[in-house]
Amino acid sequence: MSLEITNLDVSIEGISILRDVNLTIATGEMSGLIGHNGAGKTTLIRAIMGLLPADRGTISFKGRDITHKPAWSRAGMRISYMPEDRRLIPELTVTENMLMPAWANNIRDGEQRLKWVYELMPEIADFGKRKALQLSGGQQKLVALGRALIPGREMILLDEPFEGVAPVLAKRLSSVIADLRGEGLTVLIGESDDSHSADLVDATWRIERGEVSQGRRDRSESSGLTDY
Ligand code: ATP
Repeated sequence: MSLEITNLDVSIEGISILRDVNLTIATGEMSGLIGHNGAGKTTLIRAIMGLLPADRGTISFKGRDITHKPAWSRAGMRISYMPEDRRLIPELTVTENMLMPAWANNIRDGEQRLKWVYELMPEIADFGKRKALQLSGGQQKLVALGRALIPGREMILLDEPFEGVAPVLAKRLSSVIADLRGEGLTVLIGESDDSHSADLVDATWRIERGEVSQGRRDRSESSGLTDY
């Protein structure tokens, strides 16, 4: 199992947000986390990344209990996060934005990793010299995805990757995300509905008012199509 969350409670400023969350994702599996705005997707993703503390419960990654590990340590285990709001630095070029996590985390083979990302998304290399502010929202999402892949390539947490993206670029994003599974990454996609992720994911988790339940599971290791 890649990710295993057990009985997780998370609160923000004393307000209970996530309650008794149980969720698992197998290695190399792609899962959707589907819930309306305010349901708790971002909170759960940030808790997995170590950006919000757990009040109760455990988070394990590849069999190791990471519940109390700081975010940098989880990044060191190659868990990466693409936030909903992209967080590119507008005045820096695309390449500089891409290399920022390598500089910040003292990653020595940053250029090598950048090459890998450029092979996956050649269009980013094409607009590498432009400033981030000169890109469309959808292009910025592609860059944000590429940047998230620089520090970590074991598991990636994508928060609303398709939000505000024009259809053509959404299709491109889908195909890049599908390629990530081919590369063996474990992927969690947060989406308010499953309009984009339905065709991509192996399993769906529903989140409603901070409570998670298992939805659809398409591909099981042994039996092909299964419905829960
Ligand atoms: P969205 O896509 O709108 O961000 P979401 O499913 O990702 O939705 P969260 O952002 O995780 O939902 O928010 C879950 C709940 O936590 C919401 O009710 C929200 O109001 C609350 N919340 C989030 N951040 C804070 C905060 N800093 N202080 C208080 N409440 C918060």
